[in-house]
Amino acid sequence: MLYVYLKDEKTIELIDGKKLIISPSKHEILLEPFKDSEHSAQEFVAEISQNPLLRQFLFLKNVITMSLDNTSKATVNYPFCFEPYTDLATRLTSSDHEFKIKKLEEKINLKINEFGDLINSYYRIIFKIQLHSTALNKAQEGDSFLDIMQKSAESDPKIAEQIQSIFIDSFKSWQHLSELYRFLDHINIVEAAIKNSLSINQTMPLPEKSQQILDALSVLSKHFFIKTISMCIDCYFVYNDYPPFVSTTSSVRNMNLNNGCPRCGKKGLVHRISWDYLESITKLIMPYSSWLYEIIIGNAIANLDFVKDVYIHKKIHFCVNEKRLDPVESDVTIVTKDNSLLLAEVTTQSDDSNITSAISKKCEYMKKTQIPYEKLMYFTSSESSEYRDMETFRARIFGLKHLYKLDDFVNAFVLQKSQN
Ligand SMILES: [Zn+2]
Repeated sequence: MLYVYLKDEKTIELIDGKKLIISPSKHEILLEPFKDSEHSAQEFVAEISQNPLLRQFLFLKNVITMSLDNTSKATVNYPFCFEPYTDLATRLTSSDHEFKIKKLEEKINLKINEFGDLINSYYRIIFKIQLHSTALNKAQEGDSFLDIMQKSAESDPKIAEQIQSIFIDSFKSWQHLSELYRFLDHINIVEAAIKNSLSINQTMPLPEKSQQILDALSVLSKHFFIKTISMCIDCYFVYNDYPPFVSTTSSVRNMNLNNGCPRCGKKGLVHRISWDYLESITKLIMPYSSWLYEIIIGNAIANLDFVKDVYIHKKIHFCVNEKRLDPVESDVTIVTKDNSLLLAEVTTQSDDSNITSAISKKCEYMKKTQIPYEKLMYFTSSESSEYRDMETFRARIFGLKHLYKLDDFVNAFVLQKSQN
């Protein structure tokens, strides 16, 4: 049984008469949507956790942007490229490419100045309107700036022409500026796109299996509106062709899988795949919180044969002589059918030294609280192709590669126990 949301605390009888208390976390209310298996958030997570490729994909490097006008909406962006062994990232650090990036930045500065000049023109018009007594006489209390401009333009056709021309120029200038920003932003995701591609390549050889990635992402289309934007880095860096080839889609099915750029023919296409999360999920992916990923791993583990119950993000206390010891915050608490306790920690951290130090700290603390765990699994976004054991802590660190065949890796680690 999977418990994502827990209303009241529960006492668990473990093997050898040991007792464990599981209590709701401070922010349990955020998990409430997951008590209902038909809630859209739970349906989405169940789908991801049972799909090996999606499970792995979600742990890839991504950028989350919060909507400025709607804090309940988060957009997640995954940089990706279907050519894992491209030399794009190395080339971007060459002096020739760095010079071209500098030129782009200079263009942006020029455009910003141009925009500043347009703003000055607006001020000049406002000044003219102020001198234009007819317009001011016609202005009424509550009129907006545009209303006053409109009234002024009606009384003087020359002002109307000037306003129109400034509007057109500023629109063009703004478009150009946002195009430049968009391209620079795309250059900045190249490194992450290649790392993500190499991670997926460990289980799904690319570009041969690209279609499988699209098929997996199409499953997500049931839950979200998936947008993609693809740009060719080589158009500009190899052929000085600006703006480069750009293709956007509002359905992942229509995404351009052709690795060769239709314009320059080089394999410089880098993609950004993004979607908006539901409000109930947005709350779980605030900075420093990886609750969504904990729920995905918990769902996947709950289906394994040896598992009885799984609890997500709870406080657990060991009970000795009816006295509860200090609690530990546990990402995924697993009670097996033979009443042993297994724990899993979940992070999207990929830096191996940070991962090792976090797990050491956690385990040292758990020693003090005497939590009687048999084994600890640490699920991470590490790019390392081998899992790592930390024998002193009975712990195993898994990386991105292991999320694909998670069932096999978890079974093998847990079975080791009965072999000992
Ligand atoms: Zn191109």
